Amino acid sequence: MNLNPDILELLKNPKRALVVSLPVRMDNGRIKVFTGMRVQHWDAFGPFKGGIRYHPQVCLDEVKALAIWMSIKTAVVGIPYGGAKGGIICNPKEMSVNELEHLTRRFTHEIMDIIGPYRDVPAPDVYTSEREMAWIYDTYSEAQGYAVPEVVTGKPISVGGSLGRREATSRGTVITIREAAKRLKLNLKGASVAVQGFGNVGYYAAVLIAEYGSKIVAVSDSQGGIYNPDGVNPKKVMEHKNKTGSVVGYPGTKQISNAELLELDVDILIPAALENQLLAENAPRIKAKIVGEGANGPTTPEADEILYKNGVFVVPDILANAGGVTVSYMEWVQNLTRESWSEDEVNTKLEQRMVQAFNEVYQVYQQEKVHMRTAAYIVAFRRIAEAVEARGIFP
Ligand code: NAD
Repeated sequence: MNLNPDILELLKNPKRALVVSLPVRMDNGRIKVFTGMRVQHWDAFGPFKGGIRYHPQVCLDEVKALAIWMSIKTAVVGIPYGGAKGGIICNPKEMSVNELEHLTRRFTHEIMDIIGPYRDVPAPDVYTSEREMAWIYDTYSEAQGYAVPEVVTGKPISVGGSLGRREATSRGTVITIREAAKRLKLNLKGASVAVQGFGNVGYYAAVLIAEYGSKIVAVSDSQGGIYNPDGVNPKKVMEHKNKTGSVVGYPGTKQISNAELLELDVDILIPAALENQLLAENAPRIKAKIVGEGANGPTTPEADEILYKNGVFVVPDILANAGGVTVSYMEWVQNLTRESWSEDEVNTKLEQRMVQAFNEVYQVYQQEKVHMRTAAYIVAFRRIAEAVEARGIFP
């Protein structure tokens, strides 16, 4: 795309990275200090935007990478946001609700100077949910002295969350997979699907693609995976996970590892867990016709080349999971205008935006003869470059 090297130089670096120490009095009476971070990558179009991840292995480099992806993602779907990401190094599975609430509120307090409805609007990510977003909203509002729902998205409906937000990322993933399937003349009815990760993104992706008549033959979580060639009902699997803590052990299925799940002979693979799952090492064994990246960064650049050569159609994360930030944007607009839209209105707008973004990327994919990820980067960087050039460099 002949990107101006000055713009590349600019975009290689996040604008701001804040690392904070978060003392929390744990239930046992002792104080534990956690590390939190918020990285703001670039904001040429509008406020920074991105999720907050709670994970024992989260680190600054990962958060920086995720922030850059957010800048690119918002540009692919053309919404007026920049990119950001946050993280706290912690293991939420070993913490009580009380400890998580104190941690979330302290983090909000520590990053308060750099977030805000017109500065930076956080959202959920791995191991954070509506509950944490409500705490962020409350803490920020208490400090301001009035309700500021537009400071964070992915909130519960009762406090200004948008209808359709919970399923939005997955709905977008499934829309882009459907569009890819049309181009490949693959019928979604009866198509076999494997989903890695059974959290917010993976679960709803399984439910929504099953509505097209696809068969969910395998799902997994951090404990491992399950497989049944005749398909499982994702809602029943979730009931089992809620009772036992994992999808593993769901009746009538064979236990498989996360690595085995990726290599199953399926039509569609949806990685919806974490980064770096499809690598140079396992990419030659991927049999899926379509990989729809619900997760951020599941495929390494080396694996990308192998999949492309082998004719696997990858719908890249910055397009496939952009439905979440798209409906987050709608939530923010509803909050700013103090309106609430119907679920149909939200889903219709999401459908339009995702299909338009898919078509724009697909057009570049055909014209430039590059894989879909490069095509998506081209679409995004054209938009970002135009905005950066128009605004110029301060001072
Ligand atoms: P989540 O916490 O709701 O779910 C994560 C799931 O992954 C859980 O089922 C967990 O058990 C599983 N998991 C964790 N480690 C695993 C491993 N090593 N192997 C297999 N499974 C593992 O998180 P989420 O919000 O669904 O996010 C999943 C991915 O989607 C992340 O990459 C995230 O950045 C991306 N994403 C999320 C959103 C959103 O709106 N939530 C939007 C865009 C992208």
